[in-house]
Amino acid sequence: MRPEPLAAGRAGDTGKRVAGTVCLMRIHQLNCGTMAGICPTRILVVEAPDGLVLVDTGIGLQDIADPSGRLGPLRHVLRPPSDPAQTAVRRIEALGLDPRDVRHIVLTHFDMDHIGGLADFPDASVHVTTPALTWAVRTPRFIEKRRYRRAQLSHGPRFTEYEYGTERWEGFRVLDLGHVAPGMMFVDLPGHAVGHAGVFVPGGGDDDDNRDVLHAGDAFYHRGQLDPDVRVPALVPPAERLVALEPEAIAMTHSGLAALARRRADSLDVVCAHDPSGPGGL
Ligand SMILES: [Zn+2]
Repeated sequence: MRPEPLAAGRAGDTGKRVAGTVCLMRIHQLNCGTMAGICPTRILVVEAPDGLVLVDTGIGLQDIADPSGRLGPLRHVLRPPSDPAQTAVRRIEALGLDPRDVRHIVLTHFDMDHIGGLADFPDASVHVTTPALTWAVRTPRFIEKRRYRRAQLSHGPRFTEYEYGTERWEGFRVLDLGHVAPGMMFVDLPGHAVGHAGVFVPGGGDDDDNRDVLHAGDAFYHRGQLDPDVRVPALVPPAERLVALEPEAIAMTHSGLAALARRRADSLDVVCAHDPSGPGGL
């Protein structure tokens, strides 16, 4: 387990040094599903040494083809896009990359706007925390059965699961994903769903400037929840609590992320799935 972010590469590198070699890790922040016409669904596409790695998938081609069967009644609330160009598979093609190079997908959690594209990459390994897999798939309670959509998993994704141990990074519990991409980690961010985790990716950055990225999933919704100088729309906090499965943990997760964003302002972008004002604005 590597407890600290990798040291920055020399000026001009687009990645970070790992064991004496330069590891090129370009990170693309992409909107893979504008919800209700206003709210993006940010995913990461990481150009890792052994292929492409996705952090979340957004809405997929099958969701667009069959919104009723795949998304159920909540589609009327989410109002997902109808344009296949917004899916990860089409976004990756538009970047000039090959979707068949997607080897790994790392999920922050199992909500439908985050896993819809899994079926578009059926050969990828899907990495999840054990608590997320347990409560979303293995033994869901009534509330999770209503919330998560098994139709989006009907293609039988190959899951690899991870249990937290004693490793810490910047005060957070973390899980090493270095075998997926050098320096990648799950970061425990409780509140939104059981087992909900952010994903830290070293190097790259949306504008290729070597900045690290922490994709915080749905651990917050608006930049102002981490930055006191930015006003938070009044509807955001109550909406966040309404959909949270562990609402008592939200405040602690926000304060931890805000402190991290301040401490690492020179080198780290803390982004979430649905904030249109975040870095690399979509
Ligand atoms: Zn979401």
